[in-house]
This record gives sequence, C-alpha cells and structure tokens, in this order.
Amino acid sequence: MSEKLPLMEHFYTLQGEGAHSGKAAYFIRLGGCDVGCVWCDVKESWDASKHPQVAVTDICNYVGLTQAPIAVITGGEPLLHQLDLLTQGLKAKQIQTHIETSGSSPLSGTWDWITVSPKKFKAPLVEVLTKANELKVVIFNKSDFDWAEKHAALVGSHCKLYLQPEWDQQDKMLAQIIEYIKQHPKWGISLQTHKFMQIP
Ligand code: SF4
Repeated sequence: MSEKLPLMEHFYTLQGEGAHSGKAAYFIRLGGCDVGCVWCDVKESWDASKHPQVAVTDICNYVGLTQAPIAVITGGEPLLHQLDLLTQGLKAKQIQTHIETSGSSPLSGTWDWITVSPKKFKAPLVEVLTKANELKVVIFNKSDFDWAEKHAALVGSHCKLYLQPEWDQQDKMLAQIIEYIKQHPKWGISLQTHKFMQIP
C-alpha cells in the first residue's frame, strides 16, 4: 500500500456536479493519468512525478482541519494509485469518501460514493461500472447520447444517470440534452455549477 501519494492540489469548496452538487466537500487531486483525453483541461496532472509525494496521514489531516463532511478524490486518474490507506484514514476521521474516476483502472479503497465518468480514450472496466453510484457522461455532440446509453446498460440498477454538457459546448448542446432527458427520463442533468459560482 502506498503511504505517499502525488498531490497536485487540494482545496475545500462545494461539489459542483452530480448528485452531491451544492454540498461542502474537500477536493484532493492526485497526479497521474494514462487516459489521454485530447480535450483534457488538467493536462498538467498527467505526469505524477511532477507533483510532490505527500504522506497519506498528512492528506487526511488537511481534510480534518476543515469542517468538510466529504472528501472527493479526483485527478488525473486517481485509480492509478492504491487508495486503501487514504480511504481508511479519511473514514477514521468520519469523513465520507467519494471518488471521481474514468473507471479505466482497477478499483481500490472503500467508497461511500463512486462517480464514473467514462472516457473514449481508455474504456472503463465493467468491474468499476457495476459498482458506480453515479454515471456522469460528458456530452460534446449528438453521437454521445448513444455512447451514454451503451454505458448506462453496464451499470447497476441503483446507479444514478447524469448527462453533463461539456463546458465549451454548452450553448450548442444544452437544449438537445434537455430534450433528450425529457424523452429518456431515467437521465438527469449535471451542470458544472462551481463554474457558474466561480469557485474551484
Ligand atoms: S481522464 Fe481526466 S485527467 Fe485524464 S486525460 Fe481524461 S479528462 Fe484529463
């Protein structure tokens, strides 16, 4: 188990997206990603060696110094790392553990909430999709609706389904997403509300 993790950034804010949108949450962004999305807006996260190795106990203490009820582990692709110790440490402080992942690497850690946001550049593993609490599919264009349905067929019946317009395509895609959800009401919409609020 890794006692240190490459920590790119960490901050206390509100979760902006998905089922827990609007809740106070401490974000822990780990370095390292092997997915390679061409449109990635955190490419500086890709190389884990560019980020300081920080002791898991210190990371847990950062969260514990705040009132945060939830820690969201994100990246990069956080599942490139062994996360058992991190989630154990957070849970020992009564902090709920959430992860945002592409689902493309094997699951480690103990999670209260698993958000899988599948990417076309490295397919999610079925073993991760079946454990997802939330499937969040970013919509760039019309063909992404079929792609979203393909993944919705692989998650469990308990999994919440969200379509999220890609931020720069919002003007073009928002009306289509709203209409799609009206026709396919198993889906809900996820908006990047933190960007509207201009918070991290
Ligand atoms: S999975 Fe996330 S961090 Fe990795 S390339 Fe894609 S958008 Fe960027």
